[in-house]
This record gives sequence, structure tokens and C-alpha cells, in this order.
Amino acid sequence: MIASLSATSLEDIAEKVEAGERLTHADGVRLYCSRDIHEIGRLANIVRERQHGDIAYYNVNRHINYTNYCVLRCKFCSFYRPYEKGDAPPHPRGLEVGHDGALSLPMAGDAPKLNSYEYTVEEIAELARQAAAAGATEVHIVGGLHPKLPFSYYLDMCRAICAAAPKLHIKAFTAIEIIHFTRISRPRLSIREVLERLRDAGLGSLPGGGAEIFDDRVHDEAYRNKVGEQGWFDVHGTAHEIGMYTNATMLYGHIERPEERITHMIKLREHQDESLATRKAAFNCFIPLSFIPEGSELGELPGPTGLTDLKTLAISRLMLDNIPHIKAFWIMQSAKLAQVALNFGCDDMDGTVVWYDITKREGGAGSTHQEMTIERMQALIREAGRVPVERDTLYRRVFRQGADWQVESSAAPR
Ligand code: SF4
Repeated sequence: MIASLSATSLEDIAEKVEAGERLTHADGVRLYCSRDIHEIGRLANIVRERQHGDIAYYNVNRHINYTNYCVLRCKFCSFYRPYEKGDAPPHPRGLEVGHDGALSLPMAGDAPKLNSYEYTVEEIAELARQAAAAGATEVHIVGGLHPKLPFSYYLDMCRAICAAAPKLHIKAFTAIEIIHFTRISRPRLSIREVLERLRDAGLGSLPGGGAEIFDDRVHDEAYRNKVGEQGWFDVHGTAHEIGMYTNATMLYGHIERPEERITHMIKLREHQDESLATRKAAFNCFIPLSFIPEGSELGELPGPTGLTDLKTLAISRLMLDNIPHIKAFWIMQSAKLAQVALNFGCDDMDGTVVWYDITKREGGAGSTHQEMTIERMQALIREAGRVPVERDTLYRRVFRQGADWQVESSAAPR
């Protein structure tokens, strides 16, 4: 079946792409089965250049992972640490106090493999203040589902960041964390109430994590106890209803099949159709996340190859005709492959990041300092033949002078 499909011409799909027609599930599966990576890339670039020309976006941001304690044990996850009774280390990974009293994380090479940890609100606010002082426009905050922290911790976190760094956009909490907050709030709150309270405290938008693969078989095998697709879409639909923009992801390269990836994309496309037609906001960006097996319960799997990475990024651009941006997140696909992907349908590489505790391509051991300088990001983009443009979280162009910056006056996301 796959052998005969791989030899099939993509001519009819090319005609649809050139005419701006929507691709079907069968088209998407045929693209995955094709060995013609050059033609898939060429078609994805037609769509990419139609929407964004030669522009490739990046942002100056800071990731903060506030805790790795989690009540769940998703098999693909190498980040979580179980909470044991009696555990109370406030931040055992060791924030350091500098001579000026500022807190900082240990530098590259200094930190052992992460133990369990959690940050206080004050520590998070200090990290945000430092990020803003270094010129960041965004903090991207996600963490495990902590069994003890109350909902007020998350509200206080947003308020403290706003007070410490009022210009920073807070993009925080996956759909799974939002559902967790509905369960721990007292009295229990609905998804809408949780989102409205977080927005009132300063939350600007939601990242796209927690989607994994929208398929019951994959869900039951790899992350049985995690909220399924209905919960994920409920959170994002509600966010869109109240005017909050969000992103969407897909974790690929583990136990899912190519046709399940296409189904996942089509479910997102249908949701986006609804949001664009009936809600106040929608998805800004789709981020395919390349599974990194090391340190997870699925560590025996090989993980996706470079060709699977490139195909997935390009096919995402072709299938998701109504989501404006496709991101090659350099942490997940590697900086080298993300650079190549700028000519395989992608228009965004994410940002400077600085710290990323969730996963690490070269393995889980060692420091989680993972930083890309603005100069390197721009050089990678230019070498790919694209034009680097700094954006904020909502894809507004950023005009920068050192650590000082302004966004263009248009408030509408691109
Ligand atoms: S993926 Fe998220 S919810 Fe699942 S175990 Fe890891 S931190 Fe917890």
C-alpha cells in the first residue's frame, strides 16, 4: 500500500495547492506516503510565500517552567517528577543570589539533571523582571500539574509579573493546566471563570501544549489519565470566545501513525473555521513538536527522523490553510533543521528561550540553559534566504533599540 502510494504523482495535489483549494484527509496521507520531499517542500513554500513572502519571524522571549512536580505520568514526558509525601524543597535546582541581590539560574554546565523543584511567586517575578531588563517581549510559562499549589498561586504569579515587568506579554498555561485549575479552585470554577480571572490578573494568551495527538488509541496508550481532546478544545474554544488568542501543537514521532497526524490537523482546522466565523479570537500559530524519547517511558522508541520532521512541518502548512503561522521550534527540531524548514513551509522559529526545562535534544542530563542569541537567529534566517522580522506574541512587528522596544501600532494579530 505505502509502496504504491509513494510512487504516486502529487500532480493533482499540486493543482489544488496552486488554486488555493483545501486539501482532504486522503491528500494529507498521500503526502506523508510520498518520497518526494522536494515537491512537498515546494508546495508548502507556495502557501508560505503567499501568506508571508520572505519574512521569517522570531521573538525575544524567556521560558519559565515553574515546577516539574506533576500528578500525572504521561509516558512521553521526561520532565515530570512525582510528588512524594514530605517533599518540600522550594527550589532545589538552586536559584543563585547575586551580589546585587538578584536571583539567577545556574549557568550552562553547572546544573545536574533536574531534581524536583518549584518556584515561589517572588522568584518567578524576579526572573520576569530580569527577562524584561534583557529586552524580552514575552514570558512563556508552563509547568507540571502540582498537587498542592492553590489557584491563588497562579493568579499571584500573573499579578507579580505585571507589577515587576508591565510590558511583558504573559503567554502561560496549557489547556491541561487550565483544566487542573478548574479542579483545584475553591469553590470550583468553570473554564471560562478560570480564564477570566487569569486574564484579569494579567494573562495575555495561551500556549498550544497538551494537545499531543487527538486520537483515543494514542491517548489511551501514551497519556491515559490526561485530559483528552474534548477538554483541550473546550479550553481553546472558550479562550477564543472571550477574545484570547492561543496556539496549537501536535506531538509527533512516538506511537501515532501518519494518518492520525492528519486527523489531528483536520480537527484543528475545523475548530479554527468555527473560531474565525463565530468567536472573537483564534489560533495564531501551529507548532509541531518533535518527540524526544530520551528520559521518557517511551525511551526505547527511535523518535522521528529529519525527513519526518521536515515532512510534518511542510504538510502542516499545506493542511492548516486557516492558521496563519507554522513554527519550527528550534528547541524541538534543532536549530539546523528549523533553519531548513524556513524553506519547507515554516515562517517562525520561536525565540531566544534562554531556559527550557521540559526537554532537551542532546539529552536530559546537564543544564537546561538553551539560549539562542538574536544575532544567531537573524543569521540563520538570512542564510536561509529569508528576511528576519522580530514579532511580539501576537505577531505584531517589534521595533527595537537594544533592550527597549515598541510594537507597530496595529493591534490585530497577523
Ligand atoms: S506532559 Fe505535562 S501533564 Fe503529562 S506528566 Fe508531563 S508535565 Fe505532567
